[in-house]
Amino acid sequence: MMRNLALCLLLAVLPAVSARAAEDQAAAPPWKAGVASAVITPQIPLRMAGYAGRKDPAEGTEQDLFAKALAIEDADGNRVVILSMDLIGVIDRLRTAVAEQVEQKYQLPPEALLMNASHTHCGPAYGRDEAKDYFDSLTVTLVDLVGKAIEQIQPASLSYCRARCGFAMNRRTPTANGYRNHPNPDGPVDHTVPVLRVAGAGGELRAMLFGYTCHNTTMGFLRWLGDYAGYAQEYFEKDHPGATAMFLMGCSADQNPYPRSELDYAKKHGRSLATAVEAALEVGQRTPLHQRPLAGPLRCVLEMVNLESATPNRPDCAYPVQIIRFGDGLAIVALGQEVVVDYALRLKRELAEEGGPAIWVAGYSNSYDDYIASARVLEEGGYEAQCCPWKPTLEERIVGKVHELHNRLGNTSAKPSAEGSK
Ligand SMILES: [Zn+2]
Repeated sequence: MMRNLALCLLLAVLPAVSARAAEDQAAAPPWKAGVASAVITPQIPLRMAGYAGRKDPAEGTEQDLFAKALAIEDADGNRVVILSMDLIGVIDRLRTAVAEQVEQKYQLPPEALLMNASHTHCGPAYGRDEAKDYFDSLTVTLVDLVGKAIEQIQPASLSYCRARCGFAMNRRTPTANGYRNHPNPDGPVDHTVPVLRVAGAGGELRAMLFGYTCHNTTMGFLRWLGDYAGYAQEYFEKDHPGATAMFLMGCSADQNPYPRSELDYAKKHGRSLATAVEAALEVGQRTPLHQRPLAGPLRCVLEMVNLESATPNRPDCAYPVQIIRFGDGLAIVALGQEVVVDYALRLKRELAEEGGPAIWVAGYSNSYDDYIASARVLEEGGYEAQCCPWKPTLEERIVGKVHELHNRLGNTSAKPSAEGSK
């Protein structure tokens, strides 16, 4: 009798247990994510990157420079690592060294590594000969950082939301003889603040990746500084203890922060951007329509496109185009070098589709040599066109490659490939 009762109880309990297990499984976050950060402020006085006029080395630190890594893994074990850095750009030597080592050490292929620089002009000129020791230690730090982020991987949920922030202004002003570098309130801008929110299994905020499209150049003095992007991350992290804030620079070649040239403005712009990130989160909570929970699969692709030089004394350029796609929720398009805002506006317009992923376009990713003007800017002239003369075919080549890769990733039966990396 007792045994029968026990059996009955067991039978009664079993379906409930397995139903709960199934429920737990269904409720398990669809992703895993890990995040890590490291200070990369030079400990020796190096030259500053960005403005050729500053010949003297840095005189001190206003704010530490950081590198931060976010590792994301989908339910099938596909991984991507996004590496953000308070540096002028991702020069080829750095990209190659880090990409090779993380592939060797962590089996992370180049197409699954996005390296983005905040383009602060108060960071080190780390490609110069006298900065070799710093370059070497930076490489070690970045490779370790990728490993730490992967080590930290644990269940997570991801969502995308966005807001706006207004301090970026177009800096190309038409004159009688062309264009000059001067604030133009009527020029094209992209004020979107895209946000990737990473929460832990209990819903707690773990990381926040956000973007903005504006030169990170409120300041150009002789002190290390992350500028507005550095302050935005610092303020957000202070307001959300335990969470890591990361910045992804957009297509900012012709965008400047205004007002500028006073440290207080860098702080104010940083506060504005951090507040915009908060706004994106609140919009997402209040209007689920504007918060996209992301599901897999995670798919990455990186290919090169050849840009033709318009002058014989300058070589053509193998230009990297990378896309990271989070199912049908979000596609991050990461373009190399200093790209004008036309690319972000055009790609977002052309790739928008009903029920398709949100499109987030970053510049300053995986390579850093030249300005990448659009066909319009090349025709108009001015600094962004004259400093780096490309044949006007470049816009169609880059945009065409993005379409090709985007279509390929959208078709889940096609397998993405990587032709190469930088
Ligand atoms: Zn620049």
